[in-house]
Amino acid sequence: MNKSSICYTIHPSNPEAHRFTVTCRVPHPDPAGQCFALPAWIPGSYLIRDFARHIVAIRAESEGKPVSLNKLDKHTWQARPLAVGRPLSVTCEIHAWDLSVRGAHLDATHAFFNGTSVFLRAIGQEDAPCLVDIQPPEGRSFASWRVATALEPARGEPGAAKRHGFGVYRAACYDELIDHPVEMGAFTLARFVACGVTHDIAITGRHDCDVERLTADLKHICEWQIRFFGEPAPMKRYVFLVTAVGEGYGGLEHRASTALLCSRNDLPYRGMRGVPEGYRTFLGLCSHEYFHTWNVKRIKPAAFVPYDFNRENYTTQLWAFEGITSYYDDLALLRSGVIDRNDWLELLAKTISNVQRTPGRSRQSLAESSFDAWSKFYRPDENTPNVVVSYYAKGALVALALDLTLRSKTANRVSLDDVMQRLWQRYGMTNIGTPENAVRQIAEECANLDLSRFFADYVNGTRELPLKKLLATFGITLESENAKTPSLGVKTTNENGEVKLVTVFDGGAAQRAGLASGDILLAINGLRVAPTNLDKLLGRLQAGDAINIHAFRRDELIECRLRLDPPTFEAARLTVKKNHKGPVSRQAQWPG
Ligand SMILES: [Zn+2]
Repeated sequence: MNKSSICYTIHPSNPEAHRFTVTCRVPHPDPAGQCFALPAWIPGSYLIRDFARHIVAIRAESEGKPVSLNKLDKHTWQARPLAVGRPLSVTCEIHAWDLSVRGAHLDATHAFFNGTSVFLRAIGQEDAPCLVDIQPPEGRSFASWRVATALEPARGEPGAAKRHGFGVYRAACYDELIDHPVEMGAFTLARFVACGVTHDIAITGRHDCDVERLTADLKHICEWQIRFFGEPAPMKRYVFLVTAVGEGYGGLEHRASTALLCSRNDLPYRGMRGVPEGYRTFLGLCSHEYFHTWNVKRIKPAAFVPYDFNRENYTTQLWAFEGITSYYDDLALLRSGVIDRNDWLELLAKTISNVQRTPGRSRQSLAESSFDAWSKFYRPDENTPNVVVSYYAKGALVALALDLTLRSKTANRVSLDDVMQRLWQRYGMTNIGTPENAVRQIAEECANLDLSRFFADYVNGTRELPLKKLLATFGITLESENAKTPSLGVKTTNENGEVKLVTVFDGGAAQRAGLASGDILLAINGLRVAPTNLDKLLGRLQAGDAINIHAFRRDELIECRLRLDPPTFEAARLTVKKNHKGPVSRQAQWPG
């Protein structure tokens, strides 16, 4: 075995107790006392998660003799100094019961882990090559288990894994090691080749997926994206790790794979016609994570080069990585021929509606939303809609506005496609982190335009996007529909048959009347309110009417008088103008 490699073993030692046993063996530990740490967060999910809290036991040894460990902080340990030449092994028992794309999960049906949850980082030795021995659980009931991961089998090493087998895999360094999630179990496996790159799809969980349909559609999407950035693709192979559950949605991007959580009903089934909404959602998720293979895994903010796994990594650019990716995820479905233009306009209208329903868009800029992701976007509470804007949704709309601005100001000579391709060539292919103003700089360079106003207004400021005007130039009409009832100024939820206020909008009728988040609405003008009749009650009233409200705050009855506001924005609708003759030549190129 390569003497300078850091060697890990991971063993689902007790699936019923959700415990992995993980060892990290360092051949040349720091003579001053080797330190080890587990990351506090996982790239792609911008929240401090303190994965080390799931370590339930940790011990160290050298050549069979115990070595004492001193815990320095919530996720760092230091081993007693050893004589030069003596190796050091640290073994952890790790609890794994987080069925999300961000953590680790283990039971008798399968195992899934991200390296950030299980592999200690030998501090100061992050650049050393790594070997990892992925071991099966013991017992005949696990005989059908195999392994899905984009990690490379360690060919030439003793115990090297075969593709999809247990055994030893390799990574060039710690950063690469933890960027390849691993699934073990009796999953369904499908395969396709896109632009010469083998793509595996491993589906875990009970499902009736029509894998032929899925592979055919994903092949179109992946080929379109590889050609978009230019062949050859930056990865040698790619793996979609899909976990199908009853209800669930999530994805996390990696350099050569993605972990996806979906509702099994969103997967295609035999005999399915067209692209139903659920399947469209799933393909959009696949397309989103796949686009990240370029945009955020390789073109990435300078603040992430290298990642600091101990703390928050601040950047104002998440809108460019998540927003532009959100713009292209659905667009790739259209441009690869998987969905049609009407489907696509419906998806875009949904994003516009989302943003327009969020008053926080006039409080927080995209740059601020990106920077504060760690403490705001990822930690939503009752006040979030008032003060936070999604850098995904509004970021996608800024990408749309930028695309249309570039196209209309250059007679369709330059588009956001050119900007992405140049970002890829300058920063992605070269592994140089993007400076904070990279998108603006490259866009100005591509189009030979001054875009300072655009970025000041829409990225660093909170000015409303001129989407109606921009879309009209391209023959698409944007219309807004208001609600049919006067407004209480609240977002409600059905809680066990009662109307609970989730968010009370700033300056709205409910806030002026003294209602608060968490209040249970009981009656309007002396009549009982239920989730099923709230709209009917409000529909018989007018903006400006004063109404009597009874509500519970905790267990105390409160009564107030509320003056109803005019109906508020409900939904955006996009339609194609007939016989549009726009000022822009070749406008038919957009959207696809
Ligand atoms: Zn994303």
